Amino acid sequence: MKEYQTIIGLEVHVELLTYSKMFCGCSTKFGSEPNTQVCPVCLGLPGALPVVNEKAIWLGLKTAAALNCKINNEFVFVRKSYFYPDLPKNFQISQYLDPIAVEGYLDVSGKKIGIARIHLEEDTGKLIHDEKTGMWSWIDFNRSGIPLMEIVTKPEISSPEEAEKFLEKLKRIISYIGVSDCNMEEGSLRCDANISVKKSSENKLGTKIEVKNMNSFKAVRRALAFEEKRIIETIKKGIPVVQETRLWDEELQITKGMRTKEEAHDYRYFPEPDLLPFNVSDDFINKVRSEIGELPDDREQRFQREYNLSAYDAGVLTSEKLIADYFENALSYCKKPKQIANWIQTELLGLLKENHCSINECKLTPEFLAKIVSMVEQGTISNNTGKTILREIFSNGRDPEALVKERNLIQISDGDKIEKFIQEVILQYPQAVNDYRSGKTQAIGFLIGQIMKKSNNKANPGMVRKLLLEKLSENT
Ligand SMILES: [Zn+2]
Repeated sequence: MKEYQTIIGLEVHVELLTYSKMFCGCSTKFGSEPNTQVCPVCLGLPGALPVVNEKAIWLGLKTAAALNCKINNEFVFVRKSYFYPDLPKNFQISQYLDPIAVEGYLDVSGKKIGIARIHLEEDTGKLIHDEKTGMWSWIDFNRSGIPLMEIVTKPEISSPEEAEKFLEKLKRIISYIGVSDCNMEEGSLRCDANISVKKSSENKLGTKIEVKNMNSFKAVRRALAFEEKRIIETIKKGIPVVQETRLWDEELQITKGMRTKEEAHDYRYFPEPDLLPFNVSDDFINKVRSEIGELPDDREQRFQREYNLSAYDAGVLTSEKLIADYFENALSYCKKPKQIANWIQTELLGLLKENHCSINECKLTPEFLAKIVSMVEQGTISNNTGKTILREIFSNGRDPEALVKERNLIQISDGDKIEKFIQEVILQYPQAVNDYRSGKTQAIGFLIGQIMKKSNNKANPGMVRKLLLEKLSENT
C-alpha cells in the first residue's frame, strides 16, 4: 500500500458550440472586435429579459447522455449573486440544486470515474489588463452570456496522470458528439482541480486545495503533481495544510497561493424569476440519446473488429472524429484498411502537424489518398513515388492518376525490361558481382542502387531484387 493517498476532483467548463448566446441572440463568434457582439441582455441592462437557447439545452443533454448521467425531467435556472467587473448583472444565471443531469460516469482505462453533476450557465465577460503599467483594465463583453456547461467529477481520481487521462477522454467524447470545439487556447475548455492528500493509514480526509489557471491538460497534470509533492512535504514536516486556492504559474512550473478560504461563499442562490422551470419529457430525452451516434470507444472497438486493425492503429484513427471519418471515407474508394491506416499514420498525420492544418482542410482528399494507395498496391507506382506525390498533392490538390500519367511515373514491372538493366549493371560492375559471390552480401545493395538509377528509379524494386538474386545465383 502506498504511504499517501491522493484524491482529485475536477471542474471542467466547456463553451457550447452554438451560434448565439445562452439567453440572447448575440453571436458567439470568437476573435471579433471587443464589445461588438453585445445587446441589453448580455450587458445586463435594466429591464432586459433572458430567453433560453434551446440548442444549448440540447447540447447539454447530449453530453449528459454520453456521460451516462441521469437526466432530470425538470431543471431550474438560478441567480448566483456576486460582484465582479466582468459580470454586469452582478449575478450569473446558473443552476444549483436542480441541474440538467447528475450521477454519471466516464470509463478511464477500465475505472469508472463518477460525474457528480452537469449544469448549464452563462459565461462572464473578459477582463484585459494592461500588464505594462498596471494602470488600466478593459472589459470585453463579447464573451458575456456565451453558453457554458460545467461538468463536476466526484473526488474519485487518484493521481495527476489519471486526471490528465480523464480530461483527454472527456475532450474526445465532447468533440465527437459536436458539443464543443474544446479549443483550450481560445478558452472553449477550461479546467479547475481540487486535490487532497492524506496518509493512507488515516481515515480523516486531507485538506482540500483548489488549483486554477491551467491552460492545457499537461499543465493540469503538472500542477497537480507539484501540489501532491508540496502537500506531502508539508505533512512530513508536521505543518498543518492550509485550505486555499492556488494558481499555476506556467513559466515557473509552480503553484502560488492566491487566497485562503475562510468560509464557503454565500452566493444567495435563488430561482431566476424571469425563467420558468424547464420541463423535458422522456420522449425528448430519448430523442437526444438516439442522436449521440457512435461514441469514440465504440468506434475504436469496431475498427479493430471490422477492419482487423491493431488496438494502437484503431486508437490513433479514432483519436479525432475527423480522422476516423477521413479513414472510412478513403476506405469507400479502396478497400485496404491496413494500408490506408498506415498511409494516414506514417505520412498524412505528420504533414498535417507540420502545416498546422486540420485533416478536413487538407487538399489531399480521402479519394486521392485511396487512389495513391491503390496504385502502390497494384504496383503501378513504387512506394517512394507514392510518398513523393502524396506530399505534392497535399499542397496542390492535383488528381494522383493525372499526375502519374503526366510525369510518366508508372513503375516498370516488365521482367524483360528489368533483366536488361540487370544485365548491363552486371557487366559494368564485375567487382561488385564477385564481392557478392564471395560472400560480401552487402554488395547487393550497391547493385540494386545502380539498376534503379539506370531505370530512372522507375523499376519495381521488389522485382529488381528478386530477378537480380536469381541472376547472381545462376552462374556460380
Ligand atoms: Zn446579447
